[in-house]
Amino acid sequence: MNHDDMDTTIDESRCVFCGGENRCTMAAGAGNAALCWCTSLRIPRSLLELVPDAARDRVCICRDCIERHIALLDEEQVTDR
Ligand SMILES: [Zn+2]
Repeated sequence: MNHDDMDTTIDESRCVFCGGENRCTMAAGAGNAALCWCTSLRIPRSLLELVPDAARDRVCICRDCIERHIALLDEEQVTDR
């Protein structure tokens, strides 16, 4: 048990937003980011900006949260006009 790690522990297999499994290929241990679904999906910059600094570039966002965010962006565009 290492108490120094307690506050900074990041679970790379969990989505930073909902805490659910992000199913990232890298986190799953396959080790090849090119095979991960997240490389084929466009992640909005506005969503990436919501990721805490500590988790940025380390933890994947799950597909559900990305699609939910994209849907929100679409709604904003619709109500805009
Ligand atoms: Zn999520």
